[in-house]
Amino acid sequence: MSVPYEPVNVPALNLRAQYQTIRDEIEPVVRQVLETQGFVMGPEVSSLEAEISEYVGAAHSVGCASGTDALLLPLMAIDLAPGEEVVTTPYTFFATGGSIWRTGARPVFVDIEPDTYNIDPAKIEAAITPRTRAIIPVHLYGQTADMAPIREIADRHGLMVLEDAAQAIGAAYHGARAGTLGTAAAFSFYPSKNLGGFGDGGMVSTDDPVLAHRMARLRVHGMEPKYHHHEVGLNSRLDALQAAVLRVKLRHLDDWTTARREVADRYRSLFASHGLDELVKLPVERPGNFHVYNQFVVRVPGSIRDEFREFLVGRRIGTEIYYPIPLHLQVCFASLGYKLGDFPNSEAAARETIALPIYPELSEEEQRYVVGSMRKFLHEHAYASLSTDHRAA
Ligand SMILES: *Cc1c(COP(=O)(O)O)cnc(C)c1O
Repeated sequence: MSVPYEPVNVPALNLRAQYQTIRDEIEPVVRQVLETQGFVMGPEVSSLEAEISEYVGAAHSVGCASGTDALLLPLMAIDLAPGEEVVTTPYTFFATGGSIWRTGARPVFVDIEPDTYNIDPAKIEAAITPRTRAIIPVHLYGQTADMAPIREIADRHGLMVLEDAAQAIGAAYHGARAGTLGTAAAFSFYPSKNLGGFGDGGMVSTDDPVLAHRMARLRVHGMEPKYHHHEVGLNSRLDALQAAVLRVKLRHLDDWTTARREVADRYRSLFASHGLDELVKLPVERPGNFHVYNQFVVRVPGSIRDEFREFLVGRRIGTEIYYPIPLHLQVCFASLGYKLGDFPNSEAAARETIALPIYPELSEEEQRYVVGSMRKFLHEHAYASLSTDHRAA
């Protein structure tokens, strides 16, 4: 046997690898924006809005400054107010809860399904009150939430469904893309997302022309026409440079998604061939779902997770913990009155999950090194405690 291949390092995310493949397409469009010196909104942004609408299959898209604002704008556009409530999951990036809070309304949390990490539709009904205005399902890690029952509940109670699709551009649910599964959908162009810009950016998609118009006005201080302010909005515009970059990247998105799904498949077969698929819980892709693997998140016993992560650091393998503290336990939300134990599935996920390196350019050798390293740790350092933990669980 030859010496096993050991890459210099395998970062959790490698944006430079992707940039190298598209540098020649990016540089001219950036130069063109520099020549025009038109930096905020403008034709690049309008073109990107049209292209995203076409890509997701929605009638309208409104570009804005971040994924966070893409959640905030639709909530402002339904005049969400203090005293009202929005149902969402506590196991998500902070922005989901933060955007609700910013309107003065109250986030009401509902636990997740333990296998997909998405909001559990069976638990939503009990969280609805006469003050509920909307539900925000998060398509976590690139897989859509179980939208049919969510829509049914929302329709019955007259609620808006706002998809948090920040991690899920291109994902689909029974053939329909994220962005068409609710009243409106928020996308993020943060660099680590599947369609990432060279800075912050976001977009809201919707089929509702009235909502789209209101959001387009809210993103420019409620202004229409110039210097006439109908309401107090945000300064949340999208930059031309970001739009120009994103338009180039959008042309590659489907190929990158295919590559991400191949990386995920290879992880599955490597885990199986090393006999680790019993010890390490792999992502579950539900029938009918098209997962776009913004993250490949596995689960190990909480008692060894941090040691495991340190071991991988020693082997120059980057990982990430999404998300170590669920929203109901965040200090800033203490006044909501939640406590440890309220959402056991979210709390367990926060203790046990670890995101492995995934990006379209990740090579098979690198994946072999990652899984081989995991095997080394699990067998040599923690096998005994692991197998008992798992049997007890
Ligand atoms: C990234 C993300 C956001 C916010 O996007 P920003 O562009 O960083 O503001 C919201 N929700 C989820 C689930 C995200 O992953």
